[in-house]
Amino acid sequence: MSSIQENLKHIKSTLPEHVTLVAVSKTKPISDLMEAYNVGQRIFGENKIQEMADKYEAMPKDIEWHMIGHVQKNKVKYMAPFVSLIHGVDDIKLLKEINKQALKHDRIIDCLLQIKIASEDSKFGMTPDDARVLLESETLSELKNIRIMGLMGMATFTDDTYQIKKEFNVLKHTFDTLKPLEIFNFKPKIISMGMSGDYKIAIDCGSTMVRVGSSIFGERNYSG
Ligand SMILES: *Cc1c(COP(=O)(O)O)cnc(C)c1O
Repeated sequence: MSSIQENLKHIKSTLPEHVTLVAVSKTKPISDLMEAYNVGQRIFGENKIQEMADKYEAMPKDIEWHMIGHVQKNKVKYMAPFVSLIHGVDDIKLLKEINKQALKHDRIIDCLLQIKIASEDSKFGMTPDDARVLLESETLSELKNIRIMGLMGMATFTDDTYQIKKEFNVLKHTFDTLKPLEIFNFKPKIISMGMSGDYKIAIDCGSTMVRVGSSIFGERNYSG
């Protein structure tokens, strides 16, 4: 068994059953992804649409592809035929474009709203209030080809466990507050939070989906 396969097996053995593992494979070659595939991994996360589309073309078709990066509107069309979950939606205009492209392919595309929970300015996302306004908007009610499955967030990159916990708790609380809203294309089931450095904390705080890259595939050559 390769080190990728060993890492994957180890991480999976520590995850509670209700937590889904997204193997974040950005920048990694297809041979690395195939090692994970060959021991059963079927969900991969990428942060660049072109790279994800290339990997989709080259790899088995029973893989679920998750877009975890910031999405440029003009590139949505390249992933619309196959993407299974878009994690980083933080704007109604982007949702409109996703809806338009989903309609073209006669499918419904699942999305998560990205909430800004970190103190760093570099992180994208909307406030909890923005999310509520978006969910209750008439515009959203017209987007019949998208489905909002929950929320995504990234904690500050820090060693301060207390701060990370505080930020994840904000996401969980936001999810719990929005959950009762009855909107036909809002089906809140997923809280996507936790990466290699903080996924254990995230799970303690209520994460249902972790996005783990370097702990499976090793360090990346350039930051993504
Ligand atoms: C790169 C990335 C990850 C994975 O990061 P690791 O620290 O390598 O586990 C998770 N989420 C997002 C949004 C990312 O861009």
